[in-house]
Amino acid sequence: MVKTRIAPSPTGWLHIGTARTALFNYLYAKRHGGQFVIRVEDTDRERSTKEFEDNILEGLAWLGLTHDEFVRQSERLPRHIEILEKMIAEGHAYVSEEPSKADESKTVSVVRLKNPGKDVTFTDEIRGEITFNTTELGDTVIARAIDDPLYHLAVVVDDMDMEITHVIRGEDHISNTARQILIQEAIGAPRPVYAHLPLILGSDRSKLSKRHGATSINDYRDEGFLPEGFINYLALLGWSTGTDEEDFSLEELSALFDLDGVHKGGAMWDRQKLLDVNQRWMRKETDVNYIVKGNLQAPDQDILRMAVPLLKERAKTFSEAQELLNGELACLFTAPTPDKDLLLSKGSDVSMHLEALCEVLSTLSGEQTAESVKETLMPYADSITKEDGGRGAALWPLRYALSGLERSPDPFTLIAILGLHESASRVRTALGILQA
Ligand code: GLU
Repeated sequence: MVKTRIAPSPTGWLHIGTARTALFNYLYAKRHGGQFVIRVEDTDRERSTKEFEDNILEGLAWLGLTHDEFVRQSERLPRHIEILEKMIAEGHAYVSEEPSKADESKTVSVVRLKNPGKDVTFTDEIRGEITFNTTELGDTVIARAIDDPLYHLAVVVDDMDMEITHVIRGEDHISNTARQILIQEAIGAPRPVYAHLPLILGSDRSKLSKRHGATSINDYRDEGFLPEGFINYLALLGWSTGTDEEDFSLEELSALFDLDGVHKGGAMWDRQKLLDVNQRWMRKETDVNYIVKGNLQAPDQDILRMAVPLLKERAKTFSEAQELLNGELACLFTAPTPDKDLLLSKGSDVSMHLEALCEVLSTLSGEQTAESVKETLMPYADSITKEDGGRGAALWPLRYALSGLERSPDPFTLIAILGLHESASRVRTALGILQA
């Protein structure tokens, strides 16, 4: 049975690289009817924190990458010590008394692997055959002390005990693989299949780092991305089906994903594309769900619901949607006080035009769509000659009277959302201002 793992060290936030590695491991396991394990690698006692562990687990849960098994590496310490002792007893490792790096006056008893110094060849599912000569690696330190094992040892022992079949991880681990294979051979562990994923690069082609945007996956959640959108984009970071298709749910990906589709070159992080993919997922939500999932707040729920199509058109995250509601679309909830000079900025016939439009509007009743309002008002607007300013001479002041903003949605959309009564009342307010 296929068994994969994500093995994050809780020494930092869950970042994009680890999230993508987790996704690919998850998908590979699902695709092959296998299991996906989360193993928190907290052997670095000084740098590991509970806060980082919580952040990582929260992020993975938000993305929907549910695990079949959970292990905290530090809890396996007795087993690591057992293997260390066995390695020493069998002559594959030895205790070395040496001056401490931290304090030269002290002596420490580290455990070193006895390196046979040979060529190690392994087949990487993405990179093909890779050979390392291990001689220059020297005798790797595998434990700081007999009861303080280090990463390389813990990874190999845990992968063996947990029966991990596929190690899918970042390319930065390629050079660790030779060392880990030497340890495997020393303890008689089977060799898993390796697949090293290409790096994720920032737009300047350097390795993706904090400089390129949010560092913690939870920041994206807080910014109002949908997990479906984020997952869809992550999957496209260095993988494709070979077709133009780009819209995939986690379930679809679980049926499609394979390592053959992983690209060999670095994948470029493209925030604009992430935003576009996310917007496509936001648009799939029903209007009611859109409000709930975005936790959108506005003074009037009915108007908010009417405004969702506008939000779907414009917002690429839920925080952008909320910003629109607080900014450009706040006019939907609070009647404006338009400025007289601005009302008059498209010509002096404004009062006449607004009166006429009010008159036409009064022929309508009930709920309207932007299209029905447009159909009703356009004949009047189109009757204004070019010399008199054309349709803009009526439609601009109408829009401004409704919104009080120089930039806002078109007047037909505004009327459809505000309703006929509120719209007429706003136009009358403007007429009053013009008369004053
Ligand atoms: N704990 C390692 C890291 O955070 C990953 C080890 C592995 O995938 O083999 O980079």
